Amino acid sequence: MTNNFLNSCIASSANSIIAQLHLRNLGGIDQMYLEQRLSVLNKIYGLYNHVTKNLDVACKKSCAACCTPNVTMTTLEGYLIANHMISNGQAVVFENIQSKISRNRFKPKITTNRLADLCMKGDDPPEEEKKHSNKSCPVLKDNLCPIYEVRPFGCRCFISKHDCSKAGYAEIDPFAMTVNTLFMQFIEHIDSMGFSGNFSDVLLLMASKENRGNYKMNTLNYPGADLVPNLKIKVLMVPPEHRIKVKPVIDALLNI
Ligand code: SF4
Ligand code: SF4
Repeated sequence: MTNNFLNSCIASSANSIIAQLHLRNLGGIDQMYLEQRLSVLNKIYGLYNHVTKNLDVACKKSCAACCTPNVTMTTLEGYLIANHMISNGQAVVFENIQSKISRNRFKPKITTNRLADLCMKGDDPPEEEKKHSNKSCPVLKDNLCPIYEVRPFGCRCFISKHDCSKAGYAEIDPFAMTVNTLFMQFIEHIDSMGFSGNFSDVLLLMASKENRGNYKMNTLNYPGADLVPNLKIKVLMVPPEHRIKVKPVIDALLNI
């Protein structure tokens, strides 16, 4: 993506969106307890299912070509998954992740909201590393996801119009791409005191009881260069051709 293209994606109504965020529930995100933010996250996941339910996609059970070690997520999502694993006796999954941690994996240098902010200012984003592993996700077992019901948005938003294992690549509807970016921005917003990073790095951070406790109390220190700080929404990235069609989705997100 060139910076010009990204600049053209910045929503012209940004100021009004930010004003609405401040007026509605998501504006007070700093004051929310962790349980409230987890509840908002669940509602965002539910809304995404609703918005994408009529799209023509080839995704089905045991189709796992998209399950690679390159998924990213927020610390809020990592907290949800780690808690789920521990309370369901799946803590062994942390060991599987640790045993495969030497694999090359995508580590983002920048979050979606930071990218939007840089583009709004006309600054160039940093180059992301393009070479990474296409092996399986470290938690995938027998082509099934053991944490399916709490999988991060980075997994949920991978919806292809054709079977990627046959075609060798995914084909995502352009409007779905716009919706995906929007949802990523809102999920980062509700974890704006937290961090984003590769699935394995975030989950290993949250494997520690102490880190989970600090995260819950908003006292988690910067965990190191593998993770990047999240940012609140300053501007939304919506291409001009989708601005009208996406408005009901933005309204639904603002009404969560
Ligand atoms: S994105 Fe591709 S590989 Fe993943 S479930 Fe859908 S069709 Fe299968
Ligand atoms: S967490 Fe689950 S859905 Fe996501 S890449 Fe791994 S196995 Fe696939």
